[in-house]
Amino acid sequence: MKRIVCMGGGPAGLYSSILLRKALPAARVEVYERNRPDDTFGWGVVFSDQTMGNFRSADPESHRAILANFHHWDDIAIHFGGRKFVSGGHGFCGISRRKLLQILQERARELGVHQTFQHEIEDDQAFADADLVIASDGGNSRTRNRHPDIFQPDVDKRKCRFIWLGTTQAFAAFTFAFERTEHGWFQIHAYQFSRDLSTVIVETREETWKAHGLDQFDAAQSIAFCEQLFGRYLDGHRLQSNAAHLRGSAWLNFNRVVCKRWHHDRLVLIGDAAHTAHFSIGSGTKLAMEDAISLTHHVTSAAHSHLDGALGAYREERNLEVLKLQSAARNRM
Ligand SMILES: Cc1cc2nc3c(=O)[nH]c(=O)nc-3n(C[C@H](O)[C@H](O)[C@H](O)COP(=O)(O)OP(=O)(O)OC[C@H]3O[C@@H](n4cnc5c(N)ncnc54)[C@H](O)[C@@H]3O)c2cc1C
Repeated sequence: MKRIVCMGGGPAGLYSSILLRKALPAARVEVYERNRPDDTFGWGVVFSDQTMGNFRSADPESHRAILANFHHWDDIAIHFGGRKFVSGGHGFCGISRRKLLQILQERARELGVHQTFQHEIEDDQAFADADLVIASDGGNSRTRNRHPDIFQPDVDKRKCRFIWLGTTQAFAAFTFAFERTEHGWFQIHAYQFSRDLSTVIVETREETWKAHGLDQFDAAQSIAFCEQLFGRYLDGHRLQSNAAHLRGSAWLNFNRVVCKRWHHDRLVLIGDAAHTAHFSIGSGTKLAMEDAISLTHHVTSAAHSHLDGALGAYREERNLEVLKLQSAARNRM
């Protein structure tokens, strides 16, 4: 292969570029990303020990850097009806999404991957001469949506609304807290992912969200509402948003994505573009990066004489894992 293009510089695109560049050092590997290097939505991501083992085998250098920036914790705390329930010994680790992307960008740079930021890709045809075009353009993948006849996506837009916030409050445990208002329930799902920052995801049903007028609120008003509702868990710390680049409301709906096909000719879907699993199970980034490991393995394996066979084997291997996690995520949701 002479030219490989990753359309999207999230975890899936960056990790693919790193692994493919290592496996095929003669190839020119390019990543195109619409945002600036430091822009990111969201705050922290969680990985398990098993996932870290996969990363260690795939690329020890980035694995070491991720490990050095982890925050570890053990407990789950549930606050419900004025009572607190704590369960220990679970073993979680988290890292800031921004730090993860910085590590992967740095590693890609070191390996000679060509990264172009603030570059909006309108059409995958722009890379018609590339040998492999990886659609790593996330949950709202333009590539997937442009070719519904090929990828046959099934997108289930869930009714709950969520907002992904951060805070300097240190949550010692994975914290799930439930508060009832006059219009219905709100819940938070919070964890600490670095020495001084935690993620707080606030979620509620669409009708409760509307009844409170949150559909009319901007980000600052929404944050003030959440600070008031969950103040007892925040100990005076403020909630913050880092999604200023999102257009419209900061409250999102989760879209569960399943695709019948993941590739056509030299074009292949990866990560959230191909599949999503509800964030309560914390596995989207893991799935995206493990896709990159599998894709690199099959594309560079001598077992496949044609790209079509390699991409088919990649889909077959990953789809099984994705279906298992999507099923667990559905129950959790
Ligand atoms: C509230 C919430 C909490 C989550 N918590 C966790 C967690 O704890 N653990 C976990 O593992 N996962 C979590 N996830 C999921 C995780 O964020 C995603 O699954 C993961 O980021 C997928 O990686 P990706 O590279 O496929 O997509 P993305 O991270 O979405 O990256 C896609 C990239 O492509 C770029 N792009 C898109 N279109 C274009 C275009 N046309 N031109 C140029 N660039 C483009 C985007 O800017 C983006 O940088 C969470 C998600 C949400 C919503």
